[in-house]
Amino acid sequence: MIIVFVMAGVLWGMGMAMGAPKRARWTMIGILIGAVVLAQLVLPDGNPLREATGGDVRLWGLLLGFAAIGFGYRALLRMVRKRAEKPVVAVPKVGFSDTELDRYARHIMLREVGGQGQKALSNAKVLVVGAGGLGSPALQYLAAAGVGTIGVIDDDVVDNANLQRQIIHTDARIGDPKVQSAADAMTAQNPFVTVRPYKRHLTAQDAAGIIGDYDLVLDGTDNFEARYLVNATCAALGKPLIAAALTQWEGQISLYDPASDAPCFACIFPDAPDPALVPSCAEAGVIGPLPGVVGSMMALEAVKEITGAGESLRGRLMIYDALYSQVRVVKAKRRPDCAVCGCAKVSI
Ligand SMILES: [Zn+2]
Repeated sequence: MIIVFVMAGVLWGMGMAMGAPKRARWTMIGILIGAVVLAQLVLPDGNPLREATGGDVRLWGLLLGFAAIGFGYRALLRMVRKRAEKPVVAVPKVGFSDTELDRYARHIMLREVGGQGQKALSNAKVLVVGAGGLGSPALQYLAAAGVGTIGVIDDDVVDNANLQRQIIHTDARIGDPKVQSAADAMTAQNPFVTVRPYKRHLTAQDAAGIIGDYDLVLDGTDNFEARYLVNATCAALGKPLIAAALTQWEGQISLYDPASDAPCFACIFPDAPDPALVPSCAEAGVIGPLPGVVGSMMALEAVKEITGAGESLRGRLMIYDALYSQVRVVKAKRRPDCAVCGCAKVSI
């Protein structure tokens, strides 16, 4: 039997010396083993060649069985290692630098996003109205996700009382314009995105000019006047609007888009409530992490809208009750008599 191993060693060595590929060397050894097994089967008992090569075919069967288990285990290990090293989905080259590809790899791996989705995010222009509680996480996640152009509009400055929930701003930025504080935080997080800060109060005169530059609008303002203006402008320009609002422990969010036959904000909330009946966050209080949850949902819905992933909140209103940890989603229909997007709509 030893002679067979010696012959196999010599064959392997000769193959190496001649520069034969590994596959050819394994083939030669396979032929040798095959010949030996054949000799065991064909030659009679006591034949010198059969005795010299082991004398019993069962011995070779056992050895080959062990070898097969060994090779199978090695192949399995290789396969597992290869899977662990490589993303499941091949990363297509879509004009990103290696650093960007590495940064967005966990998006690109997702079947629903992929390279094309990440490219769409990079080409997208999103305007966020308000850099407060809802705007803070929305802006930060939009920047981190690689949304190429992000506009942020707010006329306020960072105040000490904001910092319990407006996490994009820091203690050192108290007194600075919120849009500048937010823009600095966003570009510090992701230098591959462009941030356009607008330090102003959105007015009916410039709303169309600013919103017209963007594909999608996120509204996180805390006053009804701004909310109705943003809604009317988006409806007139056919831009989808993701708007959210908070009260103490509860948040709500929807995607308003009458251009695709979904309701606008005014379809669901036709009249602004009496300001005396709706206290602001400053008057009623709001639990700090709540804008974090709902603002992050706004960014997530924006990413879904841009990449086309999943099912959006178009025509659906999500209500999150943080105090009792409950989420409800209610269907919302467009109102034909809506003053903004219905038959009786007003032009702006
Ligand atoms: Zn409407």
